[in-house]
Amino acid sequence: MKTTLYLRGAAALAVVGALSSCGGPKGTTPPPKLEAAAFIKQVNTDLVELAKEGNAAGWTQQTYITADTQYLNAKTTDRALEYFSRTAAEARKYENDKSVQLDPSTQRSLLLIKLGVSAPAPSDPAKRSELATLGAELDAMYGEGKYCPPGTNKDGKKTDCKNIDELGDTIATSRNYDELTEAWAGWHSIAKPMRPKYQRFVELANEGAKELGFDDVGVLWRARYDMPVADFEKEADRLYSQVKPLYEGLHCYARKRLQARYGKDKVPDGKPIPAHLLGNMWAQQWNRVYDDLLKPYPAASIESADRLLQKNKWDAVKMTKSAENFYTSIGFPALPQKFWDRSMLTRPRDREVVCHASAWDMDNTDDVRIKMCIKPIEEDLFTVYHELGHVYYYLWYKDQPMLFQDGAHDGFHEAIGDAINLSVTPAYLRKIGLVGDVVPSKEAVINQQMKMALDKIAFLPFGKLIDQWRWGVFSGKIKPEDYNKAWWELREKYQGVSPPVARTEEDFDPGAKYHIPGNTPYTRYFLSFILQFQFHKALCDAAGYQGPLNECSIFGSTEAGKKYGAMLAQGSSRPWQDTLQQLTGTREMDGSAIIDYFKPLEGWLEEQNKGQDCGWD
Ligand SMILES: [Zn+2]
Repeated sequence: MKTTLYLRGAAALAVVGALSSCGGPKGTTPPPKLEAAAFIKQVNTDLVELAKEGNAAGWTQQTYITADTQYLNAKTTDRALEYFSRTAAEARKYENDKSVQLDPSTQRSLLLIKLGVSAPAPSDPAKRSELATLGAELDAMYGEGKYCPPGTNKDGKKTDCKNIDELGDTIATSRNYDELTEAWAGWHSIAKPMRPKYQRFVELANEGAKELGFDDVGVLWRARYDMPVADFEKEADRLYSQVKPLYEGLHCYARKRLQARYGKDKVPDGKPIPAHLLGNMWAQQWNRVYDDLLKPYPAASIESADRLLQKNKWDAVKMTKSAENFYTSIGFPALPQKFWDRSMLTRPRDREVVCHASAWDMDNTDDVRIKMCIKPIEEDLFTVYHELGHVYYYLWYKDQPMLFQDGAHDGFHEAIGDAINLSVTPAYLRKIGLVGDVVPSKEAVINQQMKMALDKIAFLPFGKLIDQWRWGVFSGKIKPEDYNKAWWELREKYQGVSPPVARTEEDFDPGAKYHIPGNTPYTRYFLSFILQFQFHKALCDAAGYQGPLNECSIFGSTEAGKKYGAMLAQGSSRPWQDTLQQLTGTREMDGSAIIDYFKPLEGWLEEQNKGQDCGWD
């Protein structure tokens, strides 16, 4: 999945500094007691400078990786965490002062301050520093994780150790069962030593959460959704139950195809699918096995934009202009000149950079950027449209106070550009000259839907279960001695996948997925995958479109753009239900749009799966 650095985390964590001269050591010089509203005003003012400095350090580090830029970035991050921890404790005091009636905006701001850090530190300085160290160590263990195969290569040299990129490539491209098993088990072995550190990390962060008035870190994460925590869990379950039948249909079809390739001894009837056969290390998206294993009609090819992007020499700027042109076609403003002057669109020749695509809000006004290493391939074209979704969100909400310059909830930010990408249909690509004239056929539609479903539907159970596990871990419902067992129970229950080799509590398989050692909340991605279809439907309605949802493109519709922009301009200033209602007319997230979108595929899968023993026990 395309994780980007937009995250409130990136902004919030990067926030720092100008304030390091005030406050003094904790507990010795309490800051003057302001009125709550004045305190919020002060924080909003502080955050402007803090964010600017943090983003400058972060951008420089990622586009010019050296020991020095890493050092400077780490410094600003430390000071940001210190600022947040101090300010959150302060916010708590205002909340606890029951003698004063607070207005809703102030209340909301106080809550958002407390939710600014996903692993709140305890106030004890020794524990705070222990937590920070553990966080950095876990992150580094993942980043530096390598599997070193035993034996020697044909020149008699020790076989090279492999990182996640290489092992992930093997999982995506190899169709040799044993080779896949080795790559899978190899990568998962890197996480074993994380277990004691992670366990301690959980204890300390929970302590920090308790100081802020939350039962545990999982409760703090769920507090961001403008509803009682228990209701939010039910809400997530309800959304999942809506899309579950579609996933099960896809699972059944995939299992049959995989049986044809690997045999029923490897992929048995009525059982979970071995997790390493779906083209992705975590079996979270299955598009890498589309072409040769899961394509419904091999003869009915759907043309990708790859060929014409290359033949017509589309470069990074032209691809980005095309994305901008989509957004301006619906009435959004042109990108500021600074975007073009300061973005990094291609890989520099002379230095190390982080190529992973991300969107940046440098100064909370008009210095917005993306950082990518764009190649002339369709996948990157989609990524540019996605990243500009973040950029336009920044531009629309730039007049909000800093604390409200964020997604309505964290699922919104990822969904903005993805909803636009649902309008990048084959017909739209034809219009802009990136695919030839294709004769539409039923087979081509099913192929296209399958390709999308392996990305969008296959992801849903995975997107759901990650935090299901973590909420259990943070609450203590999942005990440290059951970490791995609970992980696989959830993976089997939701995804219907099984570990390819026997597991024990010696293993720590959750640690082999970045967001666990990286401590990034994950439910946002699940929500985003539901919401983007809901947005798409609302935008198509606003555009006056009638017809199958999967063929709708809002390109050129200023009516759709007007509604979208109005929603984006709200930022996180109000409960997300209000914001959602503005665009969709409903206050609930809802899976019916994604089901509607995949109607053609749903019917086709039912046909295909007839007489099959679907599901797993
Ligand atoms: Zn993104």
